Amino acid sequence: MSTDYAPEKTQTNLKKRVSRFREGAFVDGAKLAAPFDDEVDFVVVGSGAAGAVAAYRLATHGWKVAMIEEGPWYDTEDFVPRVGPSFTNLLRDQGLQVAEGRSFIPLIQGRAVGGSTVVNSAIVWRLPEDVIDDWSARFGLAPVVGNHALDPHYEALERELSVTPTEREIEGTINTLFHEAAHALGIATRPMDRYTKGCQGSANCMQGCPHGAKQGMQRSYVPWTLEAGGRLIASVAVDRVEIRGGRAVAIHGTSASGAPVIVRARRGVLLAASTIQSPAILRRSGLRNVHLGKHFQAHPGHGVAGNFDRPIGMNNAATQGAESIHFRKTHRFKLETLSMPPELVSARVPGVGAALGGRLAAVGNLAVWVVQVRTHAEGEVGTTLFGRERTTFTPTQKDMETTRFATATIAKMLFEAGAKEVWPGVHGVPSVLTSPDQVKLLEEGPTDPRSYGFILSHLFGAARMAADARAGVVDLNFQVHGVDGLHVVDSSVFPTNLGVNPQHGIMALSRLAADRITGLHRH
Ligand SMILES: Cc1cc2nc3c(=O)[nH]c(=O)nc-3n(C[C@H](O)[C@H](O)[C@H](O)COP(=O)(O)OP(=O)(O)OC[C@H]3O[C@@H](n4cnc5c(N)ncnc54)[C@H](O)[C@@H]3O)c2cc1C
Ligand code: SF4
Repeated sequence: MSTDYAPEKTQTNLKKRVSRFREGAFVDGAKLAAPFDDEVDFVVVGSGAAGAVAAYRLATHGWKVAMIEEGPWYDTEDFVPRVGPSFTNLLRDQGLQVAEGRSFIPLIQGRAVGGSTVVNSAIVWRLPEDVIDDWSARFGLAPVVGNHALDPHYEALERELSVTPTEREIEGTINTLFHEAAHALGIATRPMDRYTKGCQGSANCMQGCPHGAKQGMQRSYVPWTLEAGGRLIASVAVDRVEIRGGRAVAIHGTSASGAPVIVRARRGVLLAASTIQSPAILRRSGLRNVHLGKHFQAHPGHGVAGNFDRPIGMNNAATQGAESIHFRKTHRFKLETLSMPPELVSARVPGVGAALGGRLAAVGNLAVWVVQVRTHAEGEVGTTLFGRERTTFTPTQKDMETTRFATATIAKMLFEAGAKEVWPGVHGVPSVLTSPDQVKLLEEGPTDPRSYGFILSHLFGAARMAADARAGVVDLNFQVHGVDGLHVVDSSVFPTNLGVNPQHGIMALSRLAADRITGLHRH
């Protein structure tokens, strides 16, 4: 595998990749020299977890489908382990997007064919039963998610994307230690289930899997949609949906080359541009609803590093391989391992002078374990004067108390695992803890969000589903209340966060959405 990104090689790879599809199946917006006009049954905006699955399902139901994706198409042959080019190519705003509030929290999203599945760790969780019960009771969603309605969709996805528990051979020390330390403290753990086939434990998931093992959308449902007769229009950003006579009739966008793009929809438009971008597109399309942009939720993550006196081999294991939902119901947090690329982990190394130098030299002795908090906080996805999305989010005091407790729990586990130093990354607490007695500094530590190094990557709400038009943005057919043929099928429609990783739930719901939307047009 090359370590350097070569744009010319990427062009050749792309040509080779698309040559196996019928003429016109792939349209490269970066190359469009003139206005582009097309007509299909359904337009799907976004090719990530939600969009790719919905598009494939619609195509297999016999509809003419076009996926419109803002980012370009990269795959296995293009990925390099270096963070710089990877983040530039694959992430929105090169990974520099933030949610504003009491603090600025980095908000990480993929912007490429395959969306965030290109850079995620492919961890699989079905929606928890308590979440289904809550959505049914408070939002009237029982006809959609009750009665095990999602089961056939989970089963199809698990079969088609090869869900596999993290194998022992690629567990690596970082994950083994997590299991052992947790068990010693009476905390239940499990090996993660992931969408992988032949994972080699290279810990590169965040930069794109260079072995073709991770089953991201760019190498599964996107090409399968093209094989099923669909079309992919990449490097085109959708500006708005045209609504005429109360019906969605087309999308208007702009290609990376600056060409105007119109794709007309005979049947409907499905927004799958993510929790941040779908509500922004709705707003730019003139939609007004008191819930639009409101109720944005997340799972803020904070990482704690342990410095051991032996190599941990963070880059020689599954990127994420071990997890615990032990505290999910009682305390609203989940624990996970995370092998971070050296460039990112180096930024966490504390100290100055010789101490810093010594720690940097032994960066291979680090393990990072993270907490994902199921916060109560609701933020907002708005738009700036120029129509760009703007997200605000501040964890509540209760959320911060949970974060503090969870951070102390990880520190305890790291000491239990034998770490000689724990680096909590919490402003106001010593940057290096050297004994388990010092964990109490974290237990009594700050609850100001500015003190923690949060990251947001699990995003929900902002166009929530509710049976009652007064309580949400979309109805039980994923259709925007009051606009025929305009659907939202990503996690914008989730009324709440989950406390587990969302991709599998998002894909199961978007697959089910494609069936319900098909039902609307076949009766
Ligand atoms: C680093 C990272 C690790 C993660 N790890 C996991 C994990 O292991 N397991 C898990 O369950 N979840 C994980 N997640 C979260 C998971 O990937 C997302 O929840 C999921 O991909 C969201 O699906 P989506 O379809 O809504 O959005 P995305 O997958 O983000 O796809 C949205 C797509 O829409 C495109 N788009 C946006 N606006 C426009 C526009 N105007 N015009 C055209 N296209 C547009 C974007 O470019 C993008 O490609 C992770 C996320 C990140 C960032
Ligand atoms: S850890 Fe496995 S799935 Fe992730 S990049 Fe490496 S080989 Fe691919």
